[in-house]
Amino acid sequence: MPNKDFLWRGTAYGGQFRVLAVEATHTAQKARDLHDLSPVNTLLMGKMLAAAAMLSLELKIPDSEVSLRVAGDGPVKGALAICTQAGDLRGYAFEPQLWLENAQDNFYPVKNLGKGMLTVIRSLPGRKPTSGSTRLVEGELAQNLAHYYEQSEQIPSAVDLGVLIDKDATVKAAGGFIIQQMPNADPLSADRVIDNLSRTPNVSDLLDMGLPIGDILARFVFPEGGLDLHPERAIRYRCNCSKDRFERALRLLTKQDLGEMLDGIDPECHFCSTSYHFSGEEIARLVSDKEKK
Ligand SMILES: [Zn+2]
Repeated sequence: MPNKDFLWRGTAYGGQFRVLAVEATHTAQKARDLHDLSPVNTLLMGKMLAAAAMLSLELKIPDSEVSLRVAGDGPVKGALAICTQAGDLRGYAFEPQLWLENAQDNFYPVKNLGKGMLTVIRSLPGRKPTSGSTRLVEGELAQNLAHYYEQSEQIPSAVDLGVLIDKDATVKAAGGFIIQQMPNADPLSADRVIDNLSRTPNVSDLLDMGLPIGDILARFVFPEGGLDLHPERAIRYRCNCSKDRFERALRLLTKQDLGEMLDGIDPECHFCSTSYHFSGEEIARLVSDKEKK
């Protein structure tokens, strides 16, 4: 298996279906390590990152990005995953170290989000972000993403997302696929795809066995042939934070807020835990810049 995560895009049955696919094992592992995620959060973030990566395939303009956010009133609380058009992923969980008392619950992060929402936000450079939301429904992230596509974007979709972790919470495999039915799809083909999907083993188990995602789709979901899948781009966990970005955010604060930071501050990036030092003098300079305006 190449030591790289990848996104694929394609069609099936001559364009009756759109197919998106991703392998995200290394990206999920990186998120686990960066945030010291508990198993329930490793499962959630691994799936969120895989899903965000596939959502990014709709982005056409450089520097645009898509965010996938889940949030609820349950103990897991929520998570955010963002993917740029270039395939750079970042994210964080709201309760990263949470262990649920009932051991079995740790396998079902979305169930333990409780009542809440799934939101997809698309941000294009220089434009107001657009977003769509759906209420969390029964099932895990895959069912919720399919529900989002149906409700919010009116696209009948089947989503499969899998993360397999070892006893020590190492990510053994993470990935998934989305199959979307185009308006011209023959209902019989759709039935056949649904039927095949119901008999497809866990995608993470198959990835762990060393089967590439394309082979999984070809062998189990489209065994009659007709799948046309192409590699699109490599993906990776890469944060785009910088001291400059933090400074821009600080410039949005009021003079009073900045006045409370005159001993210096060390803000930390939520996405990659890098901390940036701003000395008292640097903060004072931001205050005096504000006074000049
Ligand atoms: Zn960062």
